[in-house]
Amino acid sequence: MELSDIKGVGPKLLKSLNNLNINTIDDLLSYYPYRYEIFEPLNLTDDYNGERIAINATIESLPTVAFIKKNFNRLQFRAIHNNKIMQVVIFNRAFMKQHLTINKTITLVGKYDSKKNTFTCDDIKLTPITKKEIIPIYHINKNIKNNELRKIYESLFSNKLEVSKYIPDEYLEKYKFLDKLEALKKIHMPTNYNDIKSASLYLKYEELFLFLFKIAYMKKGNDNIYKTPKEFNDNDINEFISTLPFTLTDSQSDALNLILEDLKSNKKMNRLVLGDVGSGKTIVSFISMYASFLSGYQSVLMAPTEVLARQHYESALNYFKGFKMNIGLLVGSMTKKEKDIVKEKLKNKEIDILIGTHAIIEESVVFNKLGLVITDEQHRFGVKQREILKSKGEIPDALYMSATPIPRSYALTLYGDLDVSFITHKPGGRKEIATKIKKYTALKDVLTHVLEEIKNNHQVYVVASLIDDNEELDLKSVETLKEKFNIAFNNKIPIEILHGKLKQKEKDEVMTRFKNNETKILISTTVIEVGVDVKNATIMVIFDADRFGLATLHQLRGRVGRNSLESYCYLICDEEKERLKVLEESNDGFYISEKDLELRGEGDLFGIRQSGVKTFKIANLKTDLKIMMQAKKDTEEYINQENYKNNKYYTKIINELDSLN
Ligand code: ADP
Ligand code: MG
Repeated sequence: MELSDIKGVGPKLLKSLNNLNINTIDDLLSYYPYRYEIFEPLNLTDDYNGERIAINATIESLPTVAFIKKNFNRLQFRAIHNNKIMQVVIFNRAFMKQHLTINKTITLVGKYDSKKNTFTCDDIKLTPITKKEIIPIYHINKNIKNNELRKIYESLFSNKLEVSKYIPDEYLEKYKFLDKLEALKKIHMPTNYNDIKSASLYLKYEELFLFLFKIAYMKKGNDNIYKTPKEFNDNDINEFISTLPFTLTDSQSDALNLILEDLKSNKKMNRLVLGDVGSGKTIVSFISMYASFLSGYQSVLMAPTEVLARQHYESALNYFKGFKMNIGLLVGSMTKKEKDIVKEKLKNKEIDILIGTHAIIEESVVFNKLGLVITDEQHRFGVKQREILKSKGEIPDALYMSATPIPRSYALTLYGDLDVSFITHKPGGRKEIATKIKKYTALKDVLTHVLEEIKNNHQVYVVASLIDDNEELDLKSVETLKEKFNIAFNNKIPIEILHGKLKQKEKDEVMTRFKNNETKILISTTVIEVGVDVKNATIMVIFDADRFGLATLHQLRGRVGRNSLESYCYLICDEEKERLKVLEESNDGFYISEKDLELRGEGDLFGIRQSGVKTFKIANLKTDLKIMMQAKKDTEEYINQENYKNNKYYTKIINELDSLN
């Protein structure tokens, strides 16, 4: 069955549904209401003065309409409720006039003002509500109304529907769940509060079961894979560490030691290093690659952007200057000839460490003896990309690095398929980044400060707000900002822009000039959000900060404060948002992620295991922690059953594996 088969869904409604990203019956079924309104017609008393309520009333006078200005009109009439006549007002419903006939009983939804004896409605129900009614409210856009959507569901459920089920029978029985179709019907057309409760319990459990089953499945695939242990001498490692311009933090040493143990073990490593921005994950990965080199293996480090790959390459060259390890770079913008040379060397084992971008996973890239695969900013890559990379070695150890700070309890569940190390402390000597929320109207203060810092020979990042997928817009917003800044500074300050539309070569050039302190202000989109390290930058200005999640803002902010210089971050927005204050209060990514979770439910956890493709539709990681823990337990139990592969749900679930990142 398709959407257009639903009675009442014509081309116009179909288009509106598509606009909501509803393209199939399944999409429609899982387009859950985000809240419900409960209507119970009341007898109006003074107690309800000013409160939003519903009452039934009979129309006493024909409505009049006043057209106040374009797109703004007021409809007004008298109505009787409990023998009392009152004025009724509703705005922008001129079109209702013809339906409001004398003596008709209707339901008024809105607020009563006893002083003016006026009931101001936000809604009028022409079919009066006689008993308690629960009305689901959906996220909609201007092309479709909530009641149209509700009618579509009514029409849909009058058909015989088939739905995919993912909860194995034993758990359906164990928890005495309803039937899935029933749950879906109840979530969209509840008749009482219990309907919502039982239906959402089913749907949340199923969503979490599916998600956690995939993780359990991956873990099973990862566990007990044996490899040849890597052999190297700890003294050689320590010798290298002693050449570094700093001492490792305890957090770094702990993470490193676990990795070295993993490398020496006969079990394949599958480790995620989770550490806040600037916690120093890169050097940990370099030392791991050095260990791999000492034991005779090649390593590869894949980064999500060229800017980052090149940065890693430069620092690797720098760190390993006196050591006999050959380092190569492979990125998309290199010429074919340059690439061929690198590939040839790689095949001949004249390269020990390869650093690069997606270009590395191309088929023509062949290693000689690949023993360690590292993915930086791993959340930016898909499962498939990481799998291909791993397939280039026999059984290479795998190390993932991520700066997405998430609370420990969630990390251990969401990354249940990996061993997780946390780098919880940043290198000493770092100052907190002083963060301030500023209104647009106070932009002048910010610009004054920017100028001051530049006079002190420091540099400034500016992030343009538009996070639209539309790159055209992105481009515009950075260019508009550049103009603004140029006007403000009389064209006296070298400003450059960086965005996704630039050619790679241009991006690199822009970045190089910024690194060399030739450019003072870099205005960019979030395209290059991750990992960039320019120590001399001391101010980060983020426009329309309220559009971003806290974790993203925290990551952006982490581009400054990369040494002992005082650093600042300005969050510019229209109005001060309570949520953003968390960033003023704290520089601790893990704390911020806890807060984000508290304030927004899922928070930026959304982006963690999926690159924006799939999010939880009904489960809320904060409020549904209990269901999640139970589902985790159940999936782990289920996957350890001998015969789980014969289960009819198994293939179905595995087929969905690809959509999980
Ligand atoms: P991230 O964890 O965000 O990837 P990086 O690895 O880019 O962080 O490190 C941020 C900066 O901190 C780099 O300039 C790096 O040289 C520096 N750094 C790393 N470890 C230490 C340390 N133990 N002491 C001082 N500075 C360090
Ligand atoms: Mg990094």
